[in-house]
Amino acid sequence: MSDNNSNDNIILKVEGLKKVFGDHVVLENINTTVKKGEVIAIIGPSGCGKSTFLRSLNLLEKPTEGHIYFHGTDITDKNVNINKLREKIGMVFQHFNLFPNMTVKKNIMLAPVQLKLMNEEEANKKALELLERVGLSDKADTYPNMLSGGQKQRVAIARAMAMNPDVMLFDEPTSALDPEMVGEVLGIIKELAESGMTMLIVTHEMGFAKEVANRCMFFADTKIMEENTPKELFENPQTPRLQDFLSKVL
Ligand code: ADP
Ligand code: MG
Repeated sequence: MSDNNSNDNIILKVEGLKKVFGDHVVLENINTTVKKGEVIAIIGPSGCGKSTFLRSLNLLEKPTEGHIYFHGTDITDKNVNINKLREKIGMVFQHFNLFPNMTVKKNIMLAPVQLKLMNEEEANKKALELLERVGLSDKADTYPNMLSGGQKQRVAIARAMAMNPDVMLFDEPTSALDPEMVGEVLGIIKELAESGMTMLIVTHEMGFAKEVANRCMFFADTKIMEENTPKELFENPQTPRLQDFLSKVL
């Protein structure tokens, strides 16, 4: 345990993160700090380690080297309670990962009830509030397979929010959606951002990144190759690597 980073405004601090799969170095010497309320967009070519980076932040991937501090506590320390950590770090995946055998409302209630953070009544109330927030009040008793992709992802966001996380990680939350559903999901994420939620979003939606993020990181060749405000990053790319990437995606 370390408390040398216990500045209240710093939620996450990454120091010298390295991740290797076999002999493949995916990330090396990643350093960054995430402050409360920041909205960080992560962009970069396929396979450059964006998901690995995000997954490292809640130890879905174990760093090969380096340290990650969450509210000042080194989560790479073997004594850290990973489940407690994950309660405070919400994650939303490309493929929703809803439980198909449970209603929408039960999906949202499950974790807080199982972890005894809320009783059934509190979790029920919270689930209904969150469903209203994501515009799905009428779907509480529906099963996930009856929902569109966009609706499923809105439920997945509500489910992550049910734990009152300190930070939300979104890994390409709209990549699996039909184009007409992208907007409704981005709209919910934007509202969350505007409500002050700290978030990191891996996305290919450059317009969204520019509109919503305070900071944008470009990952390539195992590192954060450029990091800036989205406007600067998109309008004034410094490296040939980013110039090339932007010429393909913008
Ligand atoms: P991105 O999200 O930027 O597309 P990823 O983080 O998913 O990239 O993957 C980065 C690299 O690490 C890719 O080459 C991928 O094949 C590899 N990789 C990811 N997860 C694993 C794993 N569990 N085992 C081996 N290689 C992996
Ligand atoms: Mg990925």
